[in-house]
Amino acid sequence: MIEIADVTRSYGAFKALDSASLTIREGEFFSLLGPSGCGKTTLLRMIAGFDTPTSGRILIDGQPMDGIPPNRRPTNMVFQSYAIFPHLNVEQNVAYGLKRLRLDAREEKRRVDEALAQVSLAGLGKRGATELSGGQRQRVALARALVMRPKVLLLDEPLSALDKKLREQMQVELRHLQRTVGITFVLVTHDQYEALAMSDRIAVMFGGRIAQVAAPKEIYQQPTNRQVADFLGGMNFIQAEIVDDDSGSLTVDTMAFGRVTTEKPKAFVRNGSGATLGIRPERLRVLWDDARAKFEVAGTVVDRHYFGEITHLIVEVPGLEKPLSVSETNNFGADDIPVGAPIRLAYDPEALVALAD
Ligand code: ATP
Repeated sequence: MIEIADVTRSYGAFKALDSASLTIREGEFFSLLGPSGCGKTTLLRMIAGFDTPTSGRILIDGQPMDGIPPNRRPTNMVFQSYAIFPHLNVEQNVAYGLKRLRLDAREEKRRVDEALAQVSLAGLGKRGATELSGGQRQRVALARALVMRPKVLLLDEPLSALDKKLREQMQVELRHLQRTVGITFVLVTHDQYEALAMSDRIAVMFGGRIAQVAAPKEIYQQPTNRQVADFLGGMNFIQAEIVDDDSGSLTVDTMAFGRVTTEKPKAFVRNGSGATLGIRPERLRVLWDDARAKFEVAGTVVDRHYFGEITHLIVEVPGLEKPLSVSETNNFGADDIPVGAPIRLAYDPEALVALAD
């Protein structure tokens, strides 16, 4: 549906976007994820036509977008600020873009009602725009975009103004809405959990470059490099020495985890004999009492952080440069393990992934 081909956007010598290439499929919920300033809004604005690539090309639905203004593209954008007109009521806000289509009054009303129903605002059409909650304003902004029946809906941090509870509820609703209407959604977010929860695929961006494009589970479980791994939740990094390096896999020696064979990431560039492995904190499990596991490491609890449903244990392990971060549910009393206690942790060697730098 969207083809980004080697797109660069420069401001003088600075490249806000640097040779980005990407294909977004029809009907996909696609997220652009990255820290502030990584270029995700720049890319979204160029898809919408509010900005122009310095070089490279953008095609939507097979058509080159060079010189095509936003209102003639099959896209519609929902802005972070919602940009709702305060002097118009809900219905008038939603109908605003339809005016230029010159539909007859019945058809226009039918489409407005349909869009309001899609965002669960049926019956609120006559409400003034200033008499709405944050969540309702968000829905009006969505309805106003959906009513135009775009092929692609572009969403720039649409949930960032909402409180945590409402944001989580809207994430579920937005995902449901996308499945119902079946159009392609492109979401810009800096919230990794939002991207993981909502997307079919995610592009992770840093410094104007696309670091990885994959489904949420792959991005989380097989991050291509340390930066991606670190951005998407906690990760323990473990130094390793390469003992065998063939086309698809790496065998390494580590201090605490012994010899490990793991899949080699695509971006892996060998730099001497060293390598970095990563293991997520929740992939290390506390072994209670005399329980044994085929693969385990032993250490000492040096710190403990309580988060309600889980506890983070910081565990010093002989031979490791940095203590391990372990995330354990509180079912069995991880929140009661005293600092200073000896501890054994079980792991699955498959949870140890090689990371490119
Ligand atoms: P945020 O989440 O903070 O919106 P972002 O990833 O969306 O960040 P962009 O808005 O795409 O980031 O900006 C990318 C980079 O380009 C930033 O470093 C920004 O300062 C720079 N930039 C954006 N617009 C301009 C401009 N008009 N002139 C100069 N630099 C710009």
